[in-house]
Amino acid sequence: MPTKKRDYYEVLGVGSNASEEEVKRAYRKLAVKFHPDKNPDDPHAEEKFKELGEAYDVLMDPDKRAAYDRFGHAAFAQGAGVGRGFHDPFEIFREVFGGGGFGGGIFETFFGGTGARSEDRQRGSDLRYDMQIELEEAAFGVEKEIEIEKLDTCAKCHGSGSEQGSRTIRCPTCDGRGQVISSRGFFHVSQTCPRCHGASEIIEKPCPKCHGEGRVEKPSRVKLKIPAGIREGARLRSSHNGEAGVRGAPPGDLYVVIHIKEHKIFQREGDNLYCEVPIPFTTAALGSEVPVPTLEGKAHLKLPAGTQSGQVFRLRGKGIINVNGRDRGDLLARLIVEVPSHLNAEQRRKLEEFAALCGEENTPLRKSFFERAKEFFR
Ligand SMILES: [Zn+2]
Ligand SMILES: [Zn+2]
Repeated sequence: MPTKKRDYYEVLGVGSNASEEEVKRAYRKLAVKFHPDKNPDDPHAEEKFKELGEAYDVLMDPDKRAAYDRFGHAAFAQGAGVGRGFHDPFEIFREVFGGGGFGGGIFETFFGGTGARSEDRQRGSDLRYDMQIELEEAAFGVEKEIEIEKLDTCAKCHGSGSEQGSRTIRCPTCDGRGQVISSRGFFHVSQTCPRCHGASEIIEKPCPKCHGEGRVEKPSRVKLKIPAGIREGARLRSSHNGEAGVRGAPPGDLYVVIHIKEHKIFQREGDNLYCEVPIPFTTAALGSEVPVPTLEGKAHLKLPAGTQSGQVFRLRGKGIINVNGRDRGDLLARLIVEVPSHLNAEQRRKLEEFAALCGEENTPLRKSFFERAKEFFR
């Protein structure tokens, strides 16, 4: 779906050589204006908000910004995946404003707090879940089911909060205004009604199971699809799988943060894998085919005669699939030449014979080292 995308600089209304500070300032101003929770009636607000987050994400990251300046949106084509793609716009918002969850400090500070926002406060909280996975699972993708204890929709009242057949009545505390006036010295302050939370009505008979909240703490299972190539620390957003909202208000989201366990053989570096393969010194000298482990089983590596310790051989395409699904990394096998730790009498004799046969020509590195080091040995 080739939708036409707006220029990121234009989105934020900054010049093409805007400093990080300018980008940040522009983002702060616009993100507050277009936050979906502040614009419940504007269906385009969320789109604009996401666009802002994306623009901010790219322009604040020197690498991404350089790529964007050179290639435009093509730099991120198909890049909407996790890890390499854009960060979640809500996460960005929270990072920039340094606030906690929704209904918390951010809105109190920027949107003036009281009144008109009862809906936001009723929204369920976002949750975070840290998940450990194996390197193989990260490499090839995996489906997981997790169980989390969270506030979920009450099964007895289906989230309404009222006992079956019960009605809602006008809130007696605020007389249906949703606001109460309190006096503080000379000032009269209008505040959201503490009883109905601005909804103007209350439940006549609250559901006995959830005490009128419409949600109860219970374990719930969530299925997650983890894409192949996911990186350490990547966040997956599982929409609407956070806590249930109060009395049927929208649920929060669940954020799953991925942690990849250490592997006993492979180390990961981006999409490449590294491993060390010990070989006997005779194999290194004579050359041979040696088995090398890969994530998909055994591969064979043809070593030329005279392979040196520390030499790295590249097995193309045996690394990890890029999370964008296009390329695949390599496996880099570093050979460690092992010298026998014990020699029996016969082995020793043969090696001494061998040593006697060897001239300096057989050890080119050593020869050139002594050439260069000559003056230090004087
Ligand atoms: Zn209930
Ligand atoms: Zn009230």
